[in-house]
Amino acid sequence: MTSRRDFLKGASLLTMGGMLVPELAFSATAVKKNKAAKGKTLGLQTYSLGPELTKDGKMAEVLMKLHDAGYTDLELAGYDGNGKVSGVPVAEYKKMVDDAGLRVMSSHMNPHLNRGEKYGKATLGKISDFWKKACDDHAVFDMPYIVQPGLPGINSLEDAQAVAEVYNVAGEISKKYGMQWGYHNHDREFGRVTAGGSNVNTDHRARDGRQIEEIFITETDPDKVAIELDVYWTVMGGQDPVEWIDKYPTRIQLLHIKDRLVLGQSGMMNFEQIFKHFYANGQKTYFVEVEDIGSGHQLERVQASAKYLISSNFVK
Ligand code: MG
Repeated sequence: MTSRRDFLKGASLLTMGGMLVPELAFSATAVKKNKAAKGKTLGLQTYSLGPELTKDGKMAEVLMKLHDAGYTDLELAGYDGNGKVSGVPVAEYKKMVDDAGLRVMSSHMNPHLNRGEKYGKATLGKISDFWKKACDDHAVFDMPYIVQPGLPGINSLEDAQAVAEVYNVAGEISKKYGMQWGYHNHDREFGRVTAGGSNVNTDHRARDGRQIEEIFITETDPDKVAIELDVYWTVMGGQDPVEWIDKYPTRIQLLHIKDRLVLGQSGMMNFEQIFKHFYANGQKTYFVEVEDIGSGHQLERVQASAKYLISSNFVK
């Protein structure tokens, strides 16, 4: 349910210019023309390809096939913390993307912490250094978003709040590089934590405590932290993604469009309503994700998913 207060909050941020629409600060805004896309914008999270992306040194050809399938945008995965993504130096990666007529909109990465280290004051310096280097390395892509997909260790409300504080810092750093920082969920974020608690309650019927995802949204600065909602994992967390999209119209700026495997096949995802409500918020950036990495069928599933989106009249 969208409360009027949330709506107004979003509206006032927009008019004050506090809620910078990242693409305004981003020069390569135009989606590249792609006949196969039939005028639509189709994004793909490259994690979907697993080892097939770089197999036999044929990455340039694979990217070309993505373009031919109708994809226009990419969200990268596989940053190594030191100048390479999927094992490829970023400048080389960028050239291949350009040659294939694609654009990079985002990239996924998690700061590396050692076993036993937690998000908080003690690790803030290390995490900040990670994001500075990551933003520096990704500058070549001229991309509007940079996203963390992994949930740090959280057992209590205090843990979740400490993580939210670190996200604010990551967001502040990214903003200096002209990128909007974002957080991507799985299902555990819809579990609940309590003050002084020692575990996450993932029982969908639980009502005590607060959901981690809600803490991340409401206890971070809207200007610094955006949300990438993975709609499949939201459903797996016992939630209706449409309700979250309606409730946080300016915070949920990105979607992961994901089904059990190929989009539209399981029948468990209401993509029509998801797209409709997302577009109604003035948002449009999404990435297809297909898991089952290493199956040897990734590229064909990614291609079949593009076909589904191109033939679905609710996708713009
Ligand atoms: Mg995802």
